[in-house]
Amino acid sequence: MTKIVKYDPSLSTLEAGPRMVRPTAKEKAAASRKRYSQKLRHEVFKHYCGGKEPHCQCPGCKVNYTEFLQLDHLNGDGAVHKKANKLGTGADQLWRWVRDHGYPPGFQVLCCNCNHAKGNKLAACPLAGKSHVPEER
Ligand SMILES: [Zn+2]
Ligand SMILES: [Zn+2]
Repeated sequence: MTKIVKYDPSLSTLEAGPRMVRPTAKEKAAASRKRYSQKLRHEVFKHYCGGKEPHCQCPGCKVNYTEFLQLDHLNGDGAVHKKANKLGTGADQLWRWVRDHGYPPGFQVLCCNCNHAKGNKLAACPLAGKSHVPEER
């Protein structure tokens, strides 16, 4: 006697199949995007570091770990600039923009600490010109 099984879409292998494959393709695309954006970041940061390996441009700061570095708008109008050029929130959109516009002046590379310290109210990092390394206790 044949048992009649009701069709259950959650058990369908046809449904499960592509779903198993899709993340891999997605991951591949994400990985290649990541590689591209890392390359782009290095290129852009290097340019704003005068052709040297990317490092924080704040005097006295020695951070050169790329993951900590950010492209900063010198006069702090980042949001305005991004909006005017229809750039999203992703940093790589800004990197692409500056590269496509021949690296216009008005940008600098800062580490997230110095950039954050500079913030909206302070004109510069409070440690600019001083040692950024805490004194040994
Ligand atoms: Zn710094
Ligand atoms: Zn600083």
